Amino acid sequence: MKCILCKGKPVIELQQGHLCSKCFIDYFQKKVYKTIRKHKLFDKKDVLCVGCSGGKDSLAALYLVNKIAKERNQKVFALGVDEGVKGYRDVQLEDMKKFCDEHGIEFHIVKFTDVYGKTNEQLMKIARKKGVDISQCTLCGILRRKIMNRFAREHGATKMVVGHNLDDEAQTAMMNMFKGSVELMARLGPIPGSIRHKDFIPRIKPLYYCTNEETHLYTKLMGFSVLYKPCPHRKASFREYVDKNIEGVEKDYPGTKSAIIQNTLKLVPMLKNEYSKGEIKECRSCGEPSKNVVCKSCKVLDKLGVSNS
Ligand code: SF4
Ligand SMILES: [Zn+2]
Ligand SMILES: [Zn+2]
Repeated sequence: MKCILCKGKPVIELQQGHLCSKCFIDYFQKKVYKTIRKHKLFDKKDVLCVGCSGGKDSLAALYLVNKIAKERNQKVFALGVDEGVKGYRDVQLEDMKKFCDEHGIEFHIVKFTDVYGKTNEQLMKIARKKGVDISQCTLCGILRRKIMNRFAREHGATKMVVGHNLDDEAQTAMMNMFKGSVELMARLGPIPGSIRHKDFIPRIKPLYYCTNEETHLYTKLMGFSVLYKPCPHRKASFREYVDKNIEGVEKDYPGTKSAIIQNTLKLVPMLKNEYSKGEIKECRSCGEPSKNVVCKSCKVLDKLGVSNS
């Protein structure tokens, strides 16, 4: 086996053939740049906040977005949210901090404990005690998104870069299908969201067409310091369940994940048309933008009896 482009030693087999490390790095970067151009994810005037978990995907997204922004003298900063998962998030954010120091990127960390007074695990304990029907990951996602949007807006960002890859997106599409959440399907795509509002910072996904395997290999070949292990709570999540099933289908029918993404992209414009009519209000409790009178995070924190600064 040889690299189809330079006849070098291959490191990966893609649909189009084998690639060596140098050609693969080039292929990966070009794919990300093409996604940014094709979907007009951002322009020179945007201030970019990169939402960083500290994992491989956000690191790859941060590295490439920062590369473009540097050439254009455009402002980029990284934001890590610490939900308080010990031995996981703290390690990832430490990696992220080192990375940002090395590359001269402004980096901020906001902790759940600073905003909600408790870690995600402590909040989940309260939820179980009070019989509030919510999963650890749903709670985590709702509270994290609120912190990210508010922080990005208050620090002048006009776009929020997230490192979601093709596998994540295929999972999200199928999760919405399985749950019958057709309205949520309208929010998918490289620039998600069906309704725009001045206080919502649009999220953009430069790794939208990059698979998990490709992003993993890219960060390895680039020598980034990354903790390649998932959050311990992921095992029990619906996402993990869907992921395993999609992987099973992909193994027997290669190309399934890409097909999910291609079909999702065909559906999104129609769904956006149907579901972009709602009005965005200000949450009565925290003032953040919300589709309802009270936003999701205030609703859940209220049920838990936890205040929200
Ligand atoms: S796996 Fe769940 S609990 Fe862990 S960081 Fe992700 S959303 Fe939060
Ligand atoms: Zn090559
Ligand atoms: Zn609120």
